[in-house]
Amino acid sequence: MTEQPIELAQRLKSLPPYLFAKLDELKQAEIAKGVDVIALGVGDPDEPTPNNILEAMHRAVDRPANHQYPSYEGMPRFREAVAQWYQTRFGVALDPAREVLSLIGSKEGIGHIPLAFVNPGEVVLVPDPGYPVYEISTFLAGGEPYFMPLTRENKFLPDLQAIPQAIRERARLMFLNYPNNPTAATAPQPFFEEVVRFARDNGIIVCHDAAYTEMYFDGQRPMSFLEVAGARDVGVEFHSLSKTYNMTGWRVGFVVGAAPVVQGLGKLKSNLDSGIFQAIQEAGIEAMTGNQSAVARMRALYQERRDTLVAGLRDAGLRCDTPEATFYVWVDVPDGYTSASFSEFLLTQAGIAATPGNGFGQAGESYIRFALTVPRQRLSEAADRIRKALSR
Ligand SMILES: *Cc1c(COP(=O)(O)O)cnc(C)c1O
Repeated sequence: MTEQPIELAQRLKSLPPYLFAKLDELKQAEIAKGVDVIALGVGDPDEPTPNNILEAMHRAVDRPANHQYPSYEGMPRFREAVAQWYQTRFGVALDPAREVLSLIGSKEGIGHIPLAFVNPGEVVLVPDPGYPVYEISTFLAGGEPYFMPLTRENKFLPDLQAIPQAIRERARLMFLNYPNNPTAATAPQPFFEEVVRFARDNGIIVCHDAAYTEMYFDGQRPMSFLEVAGARDVGVEFHSLSKTYNMTGWRVGFVVGAAPVVQGLGKLKSNLDSGIFQAIQEAGIEAMTGNQSAVARMRALYQERRDTLVAGLRDAGLRCDTPEATFYVWVDVPDGYTSASFSEFLLTQAGIAATPGNGFGQAGESYIRFALTVPRQRLSEAADRIRKALSR
């Protein structure tokens, strides 16, 4: 019998290559050699989910009603908890029935929304550097990404005026993400106001990814896009319990805002998935409505780590801005290196895994991203190793 060649569909074949594959290989090789690699590559909280949330999960798992299919759009009590959380945190009033939808992690919603609103050949405005899912989900829907460069000169905010008229006419969606991964930049209110005008003038749906609004420093609380007048007419905000409550493994998030957009995504999803396990939704309700002291504790912890790493990197002669939010530090690659060659240098000469900036898009070239998701003494050791490697 001859073997059938198994071919991937064109839409998968045409995806950009996975840039981190070579680095993953190098990392595994270093570990195999016995090197104690300090992993600052992936942004996955290292602390456990808070106890009050675990206890809610234990109770919820025992209830047979939770063992059946969940409601597709999220249990009413889950959506009410989201609305209450938005009211308390941002002063934004949401109708839980029409303006809130549960997601199996925010990545799921971000990955699916172009399928609901973008026709083949239409344009999606995508920040560069950016969370890779914005570009990939655009491709999978047959859309065309148009990259908006985020540069230090522009405080890592896209220059909307620089987007050509022909692109504006073909654009259906715009992805934004503040506080920003990977640059750690935050957005001031006037920028969000400009986004609302731009979206209204050009008939574009704004998809704001707000995964990091609770990971902020020095008491500077980032705002929600929906706090801006008119925002709810032009867009939605994606949110996640992953980073705020150390729940990356649980897969629970939500989208809120313009009812037709929320409902359009809901219509798509009702044809693809069947919602989130209700016990996890119960745990999510406890996360959002219960005691919030663990979130404050995590902020303090990340802030200490930030201060340690930023001071250590500067000591080693590297340049970076002090992050105001997120758990990333976006660092300039020193002269003579590219982001790829510097990450290779860090791995092989200092035993440190970090993410090369070009993995987030072309405008990330000459940057490298460190995640603050290891204990403080590991960060100070990492900075120490970098200083020594660079002075050899
Ligand atoms: C981590 C992250 C997400 C995904 O969060 P999940 O809710 O776990 O899917 C979305 N956007 C950005 C920018 C992230 O860094």
